[in-house]
Amino acid sequence: MPRLSILSCLLLAISSTCFAQDDDSTFSVESVTSTCRQLSTALPGKVFSPGSTPYSSSVASYFYIQNRLSPSCFVKPTTSQDVSLAINVLGKTKSKFAVKGGGHATNRYWSNIDNGITIDLAAMKKITVNEQKLTAAVGPGALSEDVYKELDARGMSFLGGRVADVGVAGFTTGGMFCIVSQLARF
Ligand SMILES: Cc1cc2nc3c(=O)[nH]c(=O)nc-3n(C[C@H](O)[C@H](O)[C@H](O)COP(=O)(O)OP(=O)(O)OC[C@H]3O[C@@H](n4cnc5c(N)ncnc54)[C@H](O)[C@@H]3O)c2cc1C
Repeated sequence: MPRLSILSCLLLAISSTCFAQDDDSTFSVESVTSTCRQLSTALPGKVFSPGSTPYSSSVASYFYIQNRLSPSCFVKPTTSQDVSLAINVLGKTKSKFAVKGGGHATNRYWSNIDNGITIDLAAMKKITVNEQKLTAAVGPGALSEDVYKELDARGMSFLGGRVADVGVAGFTTGGMFCIVSQLARF
């Protein structure tokens, strides 16, 4: 079975919804809107506000309705450098934000947020397989089915989600029950 390493950039150091500041009262609509503007400047064409099609598609991509929340904007990085730039702005502005991998967590606010910023990693799905070493590098937005398809074509597989659209990032950091778990009596 290939061993996976998730290219999740700085994000693996971050747990679920992140609060760079404890006092919620400081997160005014104006300050969050201003952060979205700064993010748009840092990441042109990758920050989406309510009313845009990419914003709506991000909201709709959550498996559970309770997670279809309304962040002030979605950031959709396509490279690890984008993630770094976004984190830089979020840190400097002490903003409240969430991180979405596959969007399959059941808990509200784990991977989406109201009156804050959500980083949606869906565009970072690159999968690079090393057949000699039996390893694969998987982008943090990849779903289990993306990896299954890539590996199936090579006669390989990996221990991923039992449902195709479970995200590999959240599965790896918080799931890990796979089709053979019961055989191993996990
Ligand atoms: C229908 C269904 C079937 C499931 N089947 C299985 C199964 O077979 N086996 C199993 O073990 N689990 C299963 N799960 C549970 C699933 O593994 C977890 O809900 C997992 O957290 C989903 O990962 P995700 O990336 O899709 O979710 P998300 O909601 O995107 O992320 C989950 C958490 O991880 C954080 N996160 C995501 N990416 C990163 C990152 N790059 N860096 C830091 N934090 C990050 C998010 O902020 C969030 O807090 C299932 C869930 C559902 C709804």
